[in-house]
Amino acid sequence: MDNASFLQSVGTNFDRASGLLGLSDDLARKIKTANSTYIVRFGVRLRGGVHTFTGYRTVHSEHFEPVKGGIRYGPFADQDEVEALAALMTYKCALMDIPFGGAKGALAIEPREWETQDLEKITRRFTQELAKRNLISPSQNVPAPDMGTGEREMAWMADEYRKLNPTDLNAWACVTGKPLGKGGIAGRTEATGRGVQYTLQEFFRHVSDVKKTGLSAGLSGKRVIIQGLGNVGYHAALFLSEQDGCCVTHVLERGGSIVDPKGVDIAKLHEHMLETGGIENYSGFTNSGPEILEAEADILIPAAMEGVINENNASRIKAPLIIEAANGPITAAADTILRKNGVIVIPDFCANAGGVTVSYFEWIKNLTHIRFGRMQRRQQENQFEMLIQGVESMTGQSFPEADRKSVLSGATEINLVRSGLEDTMRVAYEAISTVWNDKDDVPDLRTAAMMIAVDRVAKSYVSIGI
Ligand code: NAD
Repeated sequence: MDNASFLQSVGTNFDRASGLLGLSDDLARKIKTANSTYIVRFGVRLRGGVHTFTGYRTVHSEHFEPVKGGIRYGPFADQDEVEALAALMTYKCALMDIPFGGAKGALAIEPREWETQDLEKITRRFTQELAKRNLISPSQNVPAPDMGTGEREMAWMADEYRKLNPTDLNAWACVTGKPLGKGGIAGRTEATGRGVQYTLQEFFRHVSDVKKTGLSAGLSGKRVIIQGLGNVGYHAALFLSEQDGCCVTHVLERGGSIVDPKGVDIAKLHEHMLETGGIENYSGFTNSGPEILEAEADILIPAAMEGVINENNASRIKAPLIIEAANGPITAAADTILRKNGVIVIPDFCANAGGVTVSYFEWIKNLTHIRFGRMQRRQQENQFEMLIQGVESMTGQSFPEADRKSVLSGATEINLVRSGLEDTMRVAYEAISTVWNDKDDVPDLRTAAMMIAVDRVAKSYVSIGI
């Protein structure tokens, strides 16, 4: 690993962008610095004794409220990591035009070491600590899932918050990423991976950007390496292989890799992981570790954790295109090496913003107390039916039966969520590509994305006199 920490890496990218924007030093310092970090140590009686856990919640910027950011469970969680991730959330929300400030949380715990009922007790206790300080609240601070957490933890947190605030009509909006039956929204679980897919599709619509990678047009047939087959990596790999014709030749996971030049069957591998708890004994298994990132491929997708491409291995990366599905997988030092080598990087706070985008839709759904599409779907269907009947009577021909059903159906919640997500990802990529291509002094997509985000945050501060 490099000498610079994750937070310093994010800071380096920020400094380059704010320099190009010509921001004054004092305003730049205000935006860059986290507003607050709360560290809590709480005890839970488990397994016949009291265990002490350490939790974090950083609020990076409150230029919009609520602030938004996932809560991760990991044994090595620390303040530096949480502050780096919270800063990325500020820039991510600004870039995607989502009216949230940035936050992030973590609990230093290895979730696989605890039984479900223990995890529930710990999560509920952590929620109480956050609630006491308004660090979980529909109007001020809205957590979401991240590494090591998912729907289950969000349901526990929402339920605990609701118990503490029984008269709050909007209590379910205190966290996002909840299960569908507990105030969730269709498409949230797949959202981050789906967003990676939409971003790559949009990249391949930008012919001049594709040219810079030396790759041929179109996603079909592209060889992909993916690191991490968790929530984000699994969905991205599944959609890219099943819907875009990509060939996932390498999957790097904890404890080894799966290599198959003909393409790994992602759905089957995932099933195997759910059944056995890992990738061992699956066909194509090798003991190879991080060196898999250096294999021949067209697209490299780090989707596990930060710092995996660093100054030790960056010069050996062969894929000409990297899309950062994880947060911070490339250190600032590695970024410089990759840039020199002509590798194009689609940055994390653009590429993996699908999760927060659909979280935004979920939060709106919770506040409006109505499922998307409920009011208009059947009315739309009636209109389409009348249109088809009109066409049939004008032409004297009947509409093809095979197409009738798909033309007739009004939008369901999942249709609307995917449509809103695709629009958000495409608009953001288009914006960063334009800045990158139009300005000679903008060296890469990351700097372009950071310039857009920081400019928006700065204008928001200036508009209220800060
Ligand atoms: P997850 O816990 O569901 O999955 C992580 C996967 O990576 C697991 O399968 C794990 O076994 C694997 N992994 C861990 N360490 C590894 C290593 N050293 N090498 C190879 N594989 C390893 O987490 P996730 O939610 O998919 O998050 C992954 C990344 O995406 C994180 O950086 C997270 O911050 C980021 N992210 C997640 C979301 C979301 O909605 N979940 C949104 C935006 C960004």
